[in-house]
Amino acid sequence: MNELCVESIKKGLRTELFGQNIVGCFSLSSTNEVLKELAAQGAPEGTLVIADEQTAGKGRLGRKWLAPPGTSLLLSLLFRPDFAPRQAQRLTMICSLAIAEAIEGLTGVPVGLKWPNDIFIRGHKAGGILTEAGTTGGRLDYVVVGMGLNINLDISTLPELRGMATSLSQELGREVSRLELLWRILEGIEARYKSLKSGKSPHGEWAARLINLGCQVQVTTPDEVLVGWAEGVDADGALILRTPDGQRERVLAGDVTLRGPVPG
Ligand code: ATP
Repeated sequence: MNELCVESIKKGLRTELFGQNIVGCFSLSSTNEVLKELAAQGAPEGTLVIADEQTAGKGRLGRKWLAPPGTSLLLSLLFRPDFAPRQAQRLTMICSLAIAEAIEGLTGVPVGLKWPNDIFIRGHKAGGILTEAGTTGGRLDYVVVGMGLNINLDISTLPELRGMATSLSQELGREVSRLELLWRILEGIEARYKSLKSGKSPHGEWAARLINLGCQVQVTTPDEVLVGWAEGVDADGALILRTPDGQRERVLAGDVTLRGPVPG
C-alpha cells in the first residue's frame, strides 16, 4: 500500500493508543465495515483500519464516497468510551477538530467544518466523517469513526464532484504527505480524546469552526423538510434550528440531510 503500509505508519507514530493496533490493506470494502466487524469480535480501543482503496466506500445514508487509489486518507478508528449513546457525536467533534488542526498545521490551508460531518476548505468539501455506534443494553459498546480526506486528488478526474469538492493538492498546487498528515491526525485525536474523558467538552471549539451556523439551511429528516436558521449546536452535536414561525427545532445529525449553499 505504498507509503501508507503498516511498517511506515508505525515508524513515525507518536501515540500510545490510536494506531497501536493497525489493520492496513491496499483495498477493502469499507474501513468502517471492516472495523465494525473487528469491534464485534473484541478488537481493542484505538484500533486503526486504513486502506488505499475502498470498493464500497460510503458516506451517511449509504451514499458513495469516491476516492481513487493513491489520492486519499481512508481510515477508521475504534473508540470504546464509557459514554451514553447520545454522546457519541462528541467523537465526531474531536476527530473533526484534530483533522482541521492537522491540515492547518501541516499545510497552512484554513479548514472549516460543515455540520454535521464535513471537512471544508474555501467553500468546497475536502473530507467527510462517518460515525457509527454499536450499543448493548443502552450503553455504547463501541464507536467507529470513519474519515475520508481528499489529499492528492485531482478533482477534475471525478466529474461527479466537480465544483463541489476540493483536495489539499488542489489548494496548494503540490502534493502532501499522507503519512505525515495521518500521524498528526492520530496524535491530535489522542490528545483530544484524553481531554474529553477528563471532562473537557470539545463543543465550543467545534461550534466555532462550523461554517453553516448563522445561515439559512434546509434539513430533510425522515419525517419532514425543515427550513430555518441554523442558530447553534448543543453539547451532543444536535443542530438548533429556528424555523420561520419562531419555533426552535432540535435536529440530530443522524436524522438529516442538509441541503443548500455553503458559505465560503
Ligand atoms: P452533504 O455532502 O450534502 O453534506 P452528506 O454529509 O450526507 O451530504 P457524506 O455522507 O459525508 O455526505 O458523503 C457522501 C456524499 O459526499 C456523496 O453523496 C457525494 O456527494 C460526496 N462525495 C463523495 N466522495 C467525495 C469526495 N471524495 N470528496 C468530496 N465529496 C464527496
